[in-house]
Amino acid sequence: MALAAIHDDRIDSMNPATGEILGSAPLMDADQIVRIVRQARDDAIPWAKLSLAGRSAHLLKIRGAIVGRADELARLVAAETGKPLPDALFEVFAWCTLLTYAAKAGPRALRRRRISTKPLVLKRAWVTYEPYGVIGVIAPWNFPLGIPAQVIPSALAAGNTVVFKPSELTPLSGVLLGEVINSAGRRLVHVVTGDGRSGEALVRSGVDKLEFTGSPGTARRILVAAADTLTPVVLELGGKDPMIVAEGADVAKAARAAVGASFTNSGQFCMAVERAFVTPNAYDRFVEQAVATTKEIRQGTDVQANIGSMTRPQQIEIIERRLADAVSKGARVLTGGKRNAGLGENFFEPTIVVDVDPRMELMREETFGPVLSIMRVESVDEAVRIANDTDYGLNASVFSPNVAEARQIARRLVAGGVNINDAVMGSGIPALPFGGEKSSGFGRLQGEEGLREFSRIKTITESRFPRGPSLAASMFTGKRPKPEALLRMMRLMYGSGTKSRLGALFGRKR
Ligand code: NAD
Repeated sequence: MALAAIHDDRIDSMNPATGEILGSAPLMDADQIVRIVRQARDDAIPWAKLSLAGRSAHLLKIRGAIVGRADELARLVAAETGKPLPDALFEVFAWCTLLTYAAKAGPRALRRRRISTKPLVLKRAWVTYEPYGVIGVIAPWNFPLGIPAQVIPSALAAGNTVVFKPSELTPLSGVLLGEVINSAGRRLVHVVTGDGRSGEALVRSGVDKLEFTGSPGTARRILVAAADTLTPVVLELGGKDPMIVAEGADVAKAARAAVGASFTNSGQFCMAVERAFVTPNAYDRFVEQAVATTKEIRQGTDVQANIGSMTRPQQIEIIERRLADAVSKGARVLTGGKRNAGLGENFFEPTIVVDVDPRMELMREETFGPVLSIMRVESVDEAVRIANDTDYGLNASVFSPNVAEARQIARRLVAGGVNINDAVMGSGIPALPFGGEKSSGFGRLQGEEGLREFSRIKTITESRFPRGPSLAASMFTGKRPKPEALLRMMRLMYGSGTKSRLGALFGRKR
């Protein structure tokens, strides 16, 4: 089954679980996109003038509009992605949670902040957070609403308008999202539809900042395009997230969490647990529980299903290739490992693989499918070393009954976020910044950091005495200060020890 059909002027969106054509969206070219960005710039002027409290009140109106059409939004997402309806509803929930956070935290995080002016005590100073203008947002297909929910509420709270490009696999969800947001009474989000060419046109369109969520390969192309205009970019990319299970951990809980966090959304989840590193005493029970829990997973399209189809059929070919390679090098598939023929060619069974080796591609490259690789390690140290030995650094999890040990492991893991005695749930806390290290990206979404990510940071200084002397005039024009006097001042202010400082005060050389 092919994915969404791309024509010269439009994209047909398809339900990957059934093959049904759901509708089409225009394939926009660079001229159209530049015109849309200009409109967004005009729309940004009155929005930026609104007070922080005024913006918050409007964000809550948007939340009301989203709740009012939650069912319609979720059904379209489920149809375009092949995921079960409850999972699509979680994405609408994410909008409610993140809009609420942005509305409440925005005024506090973005108000001007008074700053100490030492050593220039004759000054007053502030930091202000001002809107960029227009933020471009380019999203992938795995969470057509959940991913923009991490970006758009913060960008709006910071006083920007947004030009949003959904994936070519889920354009209709993006269009509907924009329509619902704007139905709250202000045109704040423009949606541009198309494929990678339209995405590149958006990067080059003159947006003031760009947020991209997607694969590292596309991110590299985006950085090249953004270099021409020096457009600042935030990148949220892939992951190869590890779970470490230490001695004494609650093995059943850890195994169930690994299975849940690995297979949700059919593993098409940047924070999916793709590698579990399990210490010797826990290993056999962990594998047994993981296999048993996986066998309980219900795959299908009904509301009781735990996982649905893959959204992007080509992803299955990548999974099959990685599995074949791992098996040829000694790995064993304990359950799954093939398409679920009874349901359709785009359904891949949840899969547990053991006897894996960190050199296998399966253990190094993001699989982005329902495959959990479990590796026995001799110690936590070995686990940390292998966990960090990848290009990625998005998220990680640690299971240990010893909180001090777990925190120490968390500190040693190279990742944007670590969950202790659970997996992936940190991203559900809107006040926590979200982002990755190394090839998992840079910049942060959510939290105060996310709100400020979409703000221009400006500083203002002011003389405490408007009629007093100008420091710039007295320091750099006319009579220059004597070098000895400067040296004495430096010793007085920053010299080590009272003796040296007093010496400076009373004119001694040392
Ligand atoms: P992708 O990189 O193929 O595409 C993402 C978006 O970029 C799409 O809208 C696409 O049209 C657009 N695009 C493609 N080429 C472009 C170009 N040259 N210039 C500008 N835009 C372009 O990614 P995908 O396959 O849609 O999504 C899967 C990837 O997303 C995985 O690697 C996954 O880990 C990652 N992801 C990361 C996060 C995170 O928060 N870190 C979340 C979800 C998904």
